[in-house]
Amino acid sequence: MNDLLKELYQEIILDHGQEPRNFGTCENHNKSADGHNPLCGDKVHLSFYLDENDIINDIKFSGEGCAISIASASLMTEKLKGMKLSEAQSIFNDFTKLVKGDADTLEILNDEDSLYALKGVEAFPMRVKCATLAWHTFKSAVENK
Ligand code: ZN
Repeated sequence: MNDLLKELYQEIILDHGQEPRNFGTCENHNKSADGHNPLCGDKVHLSFYLDENDIINDIKFSGEGCAISIASASLMTEKLKGMKLSEAQSIFNDFTKLVKGDADTLEILNDEDSLYALKGVEAFPMRVKCATLAWHTFKSAVENK
């Protein structure tokens, strides 16, 4: 990874960590879940409205935790808003591969995607759980009846 790109990624994480997007609770949600990463103390509550066409219409998160967990939740909500559920699930798969150091097998994401900003956590196994917390919470919300 070149230095310029690295710097850009760090700026994205800092920006989203300090000013998280879609922070709060979605008023008319029909899906929600809570996630907890005991290794770091990160907590996230996620809610969204899945409409009759399986589009994620509104998605918000709240919680507290390290900059990585907050930035990741913020980037995720920004990415998934307005997206079809099936596509969101493919991105979930890509993102978990990306942060586990398996970027060569991605199907959708590429290095122009803001989610790539979190690729750096692959070198820090403890941080992978921070970066994936919001995504696993999303998955449990989808599976919650
Ligand atoms: Zn954390």
